[in-house]
Amino acid sequence: MKLLRTFRSLVGRGASQEELTEMGRNIVAHDLRNGLKQCPACEGDFVDHYYARFAMTAANSLKTEEFVTALREHDWRKALEVRMDDRFEDLLIAAALRCPGRQVASILMLSPYDPYSSISVLEFEVLNDETGRTLLALTQSHDWVPLFP
Ligand SMILES: [Zn+2]
Repeated sequence: MKLLRTFRSLVGRGASQEELTEMGRNIVAHDLRNGLKQCPACEGDFVDHYYARFAMTAANSLKTEEFVTALREHDWRKALEVRMDDRFEDLLIAAALRCPGRQVASILMLSPYDPYSSISVLEFEVLNDETGRTLLALTQSHDWVPLFP
């Protein structure tokens, strides 16, 4: 993937932490747009939509099932408590998507360790008002990134 190669070359020439963070955010936004095609809540494009990553774990660990179950059961705090053992493998990342229509979706992504593989969307769910609010409350101070830069 082109963006990721650019990312690697930035790392190679000793880019600043800010540059790397910005590039990482853009890669995720790009892959989320590709994976979702349209907003799962409003079925529109991604203008004025934001995402925030809030939890992650290794994709092939004993904790993987616990993590996915916590997300499906909307037990956000439990998902947050599932810690990673090893950074050098594929990751499952949970993100919240905020739609300008005030709706919220939860998204489960697979971020492969292989630098030439894209992030893929495994599943997503448009949350009801109450569940969406609990996720927003939890992610209030998180890094909300525009999906459409
Ligand atoms: Zn939307």
